[in-house]
Amino acid sequence: MDIGAYILNEYIPAKPLVGNLEAFFTDEEKIPIETCAQLRCGEGLKFPFARLDSQPSAVAIKESKVIVAADKATETKRVVELTLESSFDYQPGDTIGILPSNRTEIVDRLLHQLELIDKADTTCHLKLALHCAKKNAKLPAHIPPETTPREILTQCLSLNCLPQKQLLSALAGFTRDDKERSFLACLSSKQATSHYQSLILEQGLLFTDIMELCGSCRPPLAFLVEHLPRLLPRPYSIANSPLEAGDQELRVIYSLLSHKPGVTTSMLEAKALQIDAEQHTKVVIYPRLSNAFRYTEQDLGSNQILIAVGTGLAPFLSFLTHKEYLIKQQPQQDKGHSWLYIGAKKPEAILKREKLQSWQQSSVLQRLRMCHSRGESPNYVQQMMSDDADDLITFLLKPETVLYLCADGAKISQSIANGLNQCLQKVLHITEEEASQQLKELKTKGKYREDVWL
Ligand SMILES: Cc1cc2nc3c(=O)[nH]c(=O)nc-3n(C[C@H](O)[C@H](O)[C@H](O)COP(=O)(O)OP(=O)(O)OC[C@H]3O[C@@H](n4cnc5c(N)ncnc54)[C@H](O)[C@@H]3O)c2cc1C
Repeated sequence: MDIGAYILNEYIPAKPLVGNLEAFFTDEEKIPIETCAQLRCGEGLKFPFARLDSQPSAVAIKESKVIVAADKATETKRVVELTLESSFDYQPGDTIGILPSNRTEIVDRLLHQLELIDKADTTCHLKLALHCAKKNAKLPAHIPPETTPREILTQCLSLNCLPQKQLLSALAGFTRDDKERSFLACLSSKQATSHYQSLILEQGLLFTDIMELCGSCRPPLAFLVEHLPRLLPRPYSIANSPLEAGDQELRVIYSLLSHKPGVTTSMLEAKALQIDAEQHTKVVIYPRLSNAFRYTEQDLGSNQILIAVGTGLAPFLSFLTHKEYLIKQQPQQDKGHSWLYIGAKKPEAILKREKLQSWQQSSVLQRLRMCHSRGESPNYVQQMMSDDADDLITFLLKPETVLYLCADGAKISQSIANGLNQCLQKVLHITEEEASQQLKELKTKGKYREDVWL
């Protein structure tokens, strides 16, 4: 990319962020500590939605299995199932938080650029600067009291964030090369809003991309600690039943973008390769608080409409496995009906397709509808719902039916909600507003539960 093409003749840079912290190094080489840095930050650091009785802990990855192969022609993402050791109880629908770490190559490159490679593993701590300009400046809670530059950049800071204009302006101040400095300063200005829009917001240039483009930019470590966001845990749905595996293990399923994969999924991929090479490897996880998006023994007698797209099937694999085991354990119990609508790019991209078909043959699934966006019609879940509109709405409006929707994207969830709205209009002969009102009421009553992922 020619950064010169993005430098205007006239511009006023945004007000730069200022640094209020300083890093102090001791002479000691730090002995590598196995646990994740954020676990040494004390009680002040909260893990989002963590169950009250639990702390994140490192657990072994027992197995990794590719369940869908990537396919460029249909833009199908690679999907991997991981089996993890578990030390807590869970129910289908529950989620775990996984603590990510940034890729070694990215961290090494940054350490070189910041001229910190010789001190990468030297113990350091952060303090408020003596003449700190900001009145209420604080030390960030997600940095341990004693750490190293490598640990900070690997486990504490989000390097894949989208840079704000004030950050770009400050980075310009730490850049020696004239062209690079002008590029950063200009990109931060009001006059270059259209460049910011196209490069950062549309093409998605991240902090790390900007640092790569501007190789002479050397912000102090303490400045990055203060102004880059915390590297946050990501939620993953549990994809199995505790009845099948016992509470000692659990499974999660993730999909991986082939271009610019995310932080956590890249980390999990690297760990999966270690497993393939028969090396032991761990990942730091914690159980998240449960919500209404779950299926427990009490739900065996009720009905479910399960709607998923792509990897969004993961929690429903756990619902249906649980149901299968409950039926085996309690054959005399009344059993509700479960309908599943699932969409994917192509048939091979439907997770555990054969398992779904076997559930349809047994009494676990009473209706299974599958569609493929790169195949023959119907291509979308909404079309299948529309084809079934009469049955679907009658089934939905039964008192013991709950609809669960899980999609990896807010747009998909919205399209499916719109599809449902149209089914309501068609079957109940009501207007769009009346159908929206009905959907709202269904949500309030807990009959329409959704999990939106990204
Ligand atoms: C309640 C809940 C449950 C979830 N359960 C699962 C699950 O079971 N399996 C699962 O794979 N994900 C699940 N997710 C999403 C997951 O938490 C992550 O957002 C996802 O894996 C990407 O994380 P990352 O750190 O690799 O990407 P980031 O570094 O956060 O990626 C940056 C951006 O890249 C895009 N991106 C990255 N990876 C993908 C991808 N695979 N598909 C589409 N866009 C992507 C997104 O726009 C993302 O905002 C869940 C999310 C929520 C809120």
